[in-house]
Formats: sequence, C-alpha cells, structure tokens
Amino acid sequence: MFIEQKLSLLFFNTMATKTYNYAIIGAGGAGIHLAMAMMADDFFSDKEILIVEKESKSENDRTWCFWEAGTGKWDALLHHSWAKGSFHSSEIHQALAMPPYRYKMLRSIDFYNHAKNKLAASDHFHWVQDSIEKVSAGSPSVLHGAQAQYQAEHIFDSRIDAGFYENKDSYTRLLQHFKGWMIETEEDFFDPEEFVMMDFRLKWKDSTSFNYVLPTSRRTAMVEFTLFTEDLVTDDTYDKILKQYFEEYLQLKKYKVTEVEKGVIPMSDFPFHKQHQNHLTKIGTAGGWVRPSSGYFFKNAEGYCQQVIDNLKAGRLPSKGVAQSRFRFYDSLLLDILKNKNEMGEDLFTSMFGKNSATQIFKFLDEETSLSEEIKIFWSFRSGPFLWALWRWFLG
Ligand SMILES: Cc1cc2nc3c(=O)[nH]c(=O)nc-3n(C[C@H](O)[C@H](O)[C@H](O)COP(=O)(O)OP(=O)(O)OC[C@H]3O[C@@H](n4cnc5c(N)ncnc54)[C@H](O)[C@@H]3O)c2cc1C
Repeated sequence: MFIEQKLSLLFFNTMATKTYNYAIIGAGGAGIHLAMAMMADDFFSDKEILIVEKESKSENDRTWCFWEAGTGKWDALLHHSWAKGSFHSSEIHQALAMPPYRYKMLRSIDFYNHAKNKLAASDHFHWVQDSIEKVSAGSPSVLHGAQAQYQAEHIFDSRIDAGFYENKDSYTRLLQHFKGWMIETEEDFFDPEEFVMMDFRLKWKDSTSFNYVLPTSRRTAMVEFTLFTEDLVTDDTYDKILKQYFEEYLQLKKYKVTEVEKGVIPMSDFPFHKQHQNHLTKIGTAGGWVRPSSGYFFKNAEGYCQQVIDNLKAGRLPSKGVAQSRFRFYDSLLLDILKNKNEMGEDLFTSMFGKNSATQIFKFLDEETSLSEEIKIFWSFRSGPFLWALWRWFLG
C-alpha cells in the first residue's frame, strides 16, 4: 500500500511538472534586460517564461551608469543624467565632448521594481524566489532549486561558471573593485549638470586607480574610488583615499555619508562563450557581456538581448554571435597591458581621452566603430606597450 501511494505520488508529480518554454536564472541586470525584451516582443506572447531569483531584489544593490545618444528605453526610471563631463589626470584636465550622448544614472532598485510590476501584470511570466543548485541541461532541462524542481525547454543562466574562479591562472584576470559614498553637504557645492568620469590624480600606490564624481544635485553626489588590480584592497584603503580626495582635491570638509556602494567586477578574457550548451545560454557577466577592459555592461546588454531574441526567432542557437567580436581581441590586449604594466593605466587613459573625442570613445566601447576608427584610437596610445602586448599575443 505504501509503495502504491509513493508511486502514485511520483506519477502525479511527474504529470504536474510544468515545462516552461524558457527559464531565466537570476533576475539581475541581464535577467531583467532579457525578460523585459521578451515581454516587448509578440513572438513570446504565447510562451511560458519562468524567472528564478534567489534574492528578494528589494534593495538598491548597485547603481548603473551608462552613456546613450538621445532618448532611451529607461529614461523614465533614471535617477540623474549629465550632458557635461570631464577627465582628469596628472597631465591633463579635459572637458568631454559629449553631445549627442548623455551620461545616465539608474539605481538598480528602480530597475528591479519596474520589472517586478510589469512581470506581475503578465500571466505568462512567472517569478519565483529560489536558489538553483544544479541544472541538468537536456530536453527538457531540469533546474534543481533549493525549494523545488522546474523544467524548461531552454535555460538562460546568469550564474558564473565555477571554472572562472578555479582556473585563475590559465587566463588574464583583473578585478575592477570600488567603494563609493553617496554624500550630502550642508551648503550648495556641486554642479549637477557636470560629472567627472575619471580622475587619476590620486592613486593607490602605482596602480591603475582613479576617483569619479557623480553629482545628483547641488548638495548630493556619489563619489567612488575604483581600482583595476589583481587583488582587492582593505576597506580602510578605500576609505583613506576617499577622505583624502574629498579634502585635497574636491576641497570639501563638511559632508555626511548617506549611502555606501561597494562592488567587484571581473575583468577577464576567460572564455565565457564556451559555457553555452544547446539548451542553456549563459547571460550577463556569466556570458561575457561585461566589457572586460572597462567593466561596462548596461547599454551593451540591450543589444545582446536583441541578438538573443533575433536568434530565437530565426531558430538559431540563442548565443550565436553574442558578445563575440574583434572587440574581445582589443580587450585582451588592454587587459594584458593592465595586468603586466598596471602602473601604465593613467598613461593609457590619458592618451585615450586626450587624443580622441568622448563620442568616439563611447562609440568604441559600444562596439559601433569601424576598423579604421579603431586603428585611429589605437594609434593615439603610446605605441610601446601595445606593440609589446601584440607581440606577447603573437607568441601565444
Ligand atoms: C556594484 C556594481 C556596480 C556596477 N556599476 C556598473 C555601471 O555603472 N555600469 C555598467 O554598465 N555596469 C556596472 N556594473 C557591472 C554590471 O553591470 C553588473 O555587474 C550587472 O549587474 C551584471 O549583470 P548580471 O545579470 O550578470 O549579474 P547580476 O546583476 O549580479 O545578477 C545575477 C543575479 O543572479 C542571481 N543568482 C545568482 N545565483 C543564483 C542561483 N543559484 N539561483 C538563483 N538566482 C541566482 C543573483 O542573486 C543576481 O540577482 C556594476 C557592477 C557592480 C557589482
């Protein structure tokens, strides 16, 4: 009798397991970009889509900044945007030629809440809070969660492959790590129309490191200290540099810290694209969507999601051609220099911003430049380190 009951329960469970057309693991930057892009496309109106996220996503866990020409998809959600910017180093102080671009700031909580509201109003998107422990990719694929098991014909997975952390020495890997303070002053101090993109005047030792300033009103600003290095630094190091930057460079002594942001973004030539399988596509950082030489992701993710959708509609593998272009080769050269000659960061960025317009640099980072434009940008760097990196690449 007991066995019969178990068998019928098993039979019932098997019958009851729904197979979704698509499952998205992770409702972070990439998962939400993809879900929103699917929702906007009629191709998915008869598809059942599952989103599994382990966190509640009810906190502002990061602030995204990105540049965009003219109006954009997320303008209604923006926290602030700037039409003017500048670049500082020990050699130059350069105003950025921005138009038609604006630099835009989006708080992640506004992005998450917007997506949650949209998804809740749909009857074919289903958001569950669960941690996926294991995936068996197949037909259908099975997602083993801590709470339940799910099935889907295709999985989009934002979990970073364990190999990325385990085989650190077999590829170039730097970390972009930072700490920032959202501060408030008692009196008007900032110009909310202008931001500082990079300020290399105050560095940590001889590393590639800089501060940046994002004023959101006359009395509030986000100021961050960022390093592109192999290892993290202590919390105290970020704090000391931030304090010194406020006192000596911004010449601001009275302010209150209202929020703190900390983060680490992997900068690496790890072959993320090799992690895709027939029934599973890696997305976001896990799919190599974060530009390894700059850590920027937000705007490019929009284009990558569109490519994924076009591939699905054409019956191709969803990952075909996504985040794989000659720009990855440029990134690996830049990474190689930053890893082996970390002290050269200020010099590299000074030549880049000193000899090219900001619009051209943005176009390059958006992967929209032509080969001749790219040669011009590379020509603007002092050639020694590039020839050296090229030679090292040639030797394999
Ligand atoms: C603090 C910070 C600031 C950044 N600022 C910028 C910026 O200004 N501009 C820019 O372009 N880029 C920025 N980036 C880089 C990049 O935009 C972000 O890292 C981006 O969030 C990457 O998207 P993602 O979906 O890959 O990862 P995430 O946004 O981290 O999302 C991954 C999601 O997967 C969930 N998850 C993980 N494991 C599981 C599991 N087992 N089961 C279920 N869910 C799981 C996580 O909880 C998370 O919600 C920043 C990164 C950080 C960390």
